[in-house]
Amino acid sequence: MRFEFSAGGIVYKKNPSASSGPAKIKILVAQHSQHHGWVFPKGLIGDNPSTGSGRRETKKEAALREVEEETGVIGKIIKPLVPVTYWYVFEKEKIKKTVYYFLMKYVSGDISKHDMEMENVEWIDLSEVEKKLTYKSDKQVWQETKKQLATNR
Ligand code: ATP
Repeated sequence: MRFEFSAGGIVYKKNPSASSGPAKIKILVAQHSQHHGWVFPKGLIGDNPSTGSGRRETKKEAALREVEEETGVIGKIIKPLVPVTYWYVFEKEKIKKTVYYFLMKYVSGDISKHDMEMENVEWIDLSEVEKKLTYKSDKQVWQETKKQLATNR
């Protein structure tokens, strides 16, 4: 067996409402081009060696880079979330993956500029996220994040 470590983001933005009601919160989700699951953007830490100093990427650097590459969105990190873990099998080898997600606020960027790793990228309503996500572990981190969004925006 081996271990893998990835980092990513649960990114939110406030869309001003058309009427005088409260602003609508939108959450960034993406559909993976290979396994077709709906997920939050993430990727392997250290995947990109260009930190400038020859050292390994930090979790935060990897999370910001992966969100931008996979969705076209530039985020600002608000806080770390409880890490997600899952097992999968690749070429007969068991892999335990840990994903360090960060709560992020949208800064800029355009979801039409995402790379090929994701086949679809969408901003969806807060209330749509639970049923859109494919994996149980992502649903769990989302449950926690949803509560935090009520106090942290
Ligand atoms: P990364 O984005 O971290 O570089 P990747 O795109 O190579 O990774 P994963 O998204 O980890 O690969 O997918 C590897 C396998 O794990 C796939 O079979 C996928 O269906 C499964 N998988 C992905 N996310 C989860 C999850 N949250 N819980 C359980 N299984 C998952």
